[in-house]
Amino acid sequence: MSSKRGIFDWYFKTNLLIRIFLGLVLGAVVGIILSSSPAETVMKVNSYIAPFGNAFVRLLQMIIVPTILFTLIVGTASIEPSRLGKVGIKTILYYAATSVCAVIIGLIFAIVLKPGTGINLVVADAVAKEAAKTPVSSIILNIIPTNMFDAMNRGSVLQIIFFAILIGLALAILRDSKNEKIKKNAEAVFSFFEGMVEIIFKIVGWVMQYAPIGVFALLTTVFSLNGAKVVGPLVGVTVILYAALAVHLIFVYGGFLLANKVNVFGFIKKARAPMLTAFATRSSGGTLPISIRTAEHMGVSKGVYSFSLPLGATINMDGTTIYEAICVMFIANAVGSPLDFGQMLMVMLTAVLAAIGTAGVPGAGAIMLLLVLESVGLKVEAGSVVAAAYAMILGIDALLDMGRTCMNVTGDVAGTIVVSNSEKEFDRAKYEKFDGANA
Ligand code: ASP
Repeated sequence: MSSKRGIFDWYFKTNLLIRIFLGLVLGAVVGIILSSSPAETVMKVNSYIAPFGNAFVRLLQMIIVPTILFTLIVGTASIEPSRLGKVGIKTILYYAATSVCAVIIGLIFAIVLKPGTGINLVVADAVAKEAAKTPVSSIILNIIPTNMFDAMNRGSVLQIIFFAILIGLALAILRDSKNEKIKKNAEAVFSFFEGMVEIIFKIVGWVMQYAPIGVFALLTTVFSLNGAKVVGPLVGVTVILYAALAVHLIFVYGGFLLANKVNVFGFIKKARAPMLTAFATRSSGGTLPISIRTAEHMGVSKGVYSFSLPLGATINMDGTTIYEAICVMFIANAVGSPLDFGQMLMVMLTAVLAAIGTAGVPGAGAIMLLLVLESVGLKVEAGSVVAAAYAMILGIDALLDMGRTCMNVTGDVAGTIVVSNSEKEFDRAKYEKFDGANA
């Protein structure tokens, strides 16, 4: 009885980040040990462990839609109408600039290091059958929901964002109204949404207490299925992706931060809670509540982060952009038809758009990869070599997803500092004092 009590006490009294880190390490070790067991054993053990990880992901998914909806409405409505345009334009300019850098870095790494060359792939059983049918123009058109409730039902984040910004915008203008009655009503609605944001944050705090167990289970599953088999060319493409992500982090985000007198290494230390959460959960949307809390601790103004972070968690995916570029090149090389210059330009456009349209949930980028592949004439059809190469990528997608999601989130947090500083709404003293713990 008393030892049970001891574990319970230890669990709740130990720093959350330490617990999450322990979950990561233990999960990887158990997964790797497990991966050498017969497939049947792996499946059987996973059938017990995986639900604990899935529960964590479901808990995070559960709060994605309300988080985006309420924080974005409150965020947009908190900005004075005259400032809305400025913060919005600066945020979008930052997202566009870093996305273009991301796709260029991804392509350069792939051109120089040639992932997938010499694999001499033979046709294997195709895993991927579901080719993307979405042309580029309809990705953009699809941002406008035809039915908002349907969009929420399906968890279509881009559509929810579009609608939430419109509500927030209208609310911001009405709160500013000269008509007392309109103003009063708008304030009441605003208070309601503010209250909803607080409720969501409370729930996030509870969900995070479960995070260490969820992370352990997720990592055990990933490593037990991929552990020893993830070798050779796949190690190559993974290393290339992570190297490109690191270069993007240090030079692109580092450059933007430096221009705002923020050291990138200090930033990484302070941003480690959302970075680690993104890495383990592979969900930008799920990490959003943690990013928001971190931005608050970092001294970023609410008016900026409550607008830029939910938007960024959905459309600003530099890690995914880099991944799309490198994996398309890997597959093209693996099937023996390297891309020409024109095709690379096409990849530049579609990789950026695909990343914008990628939902902030685990594995979404791998589905969008089909769209990018198709744009350069590499169709994933059942039984084809392209499908075999794609299946190889899918096999290690969890590992790739961890890195790219981590970078997706890091870009948002860095961006919110850049925009708030340029708006002179960055509390540098608060930032310096924050050590990244207990975010
Ligand atoms: N998992 C990524 C994210 O949530 C999206 C992707 O799969 O690329 O940011």
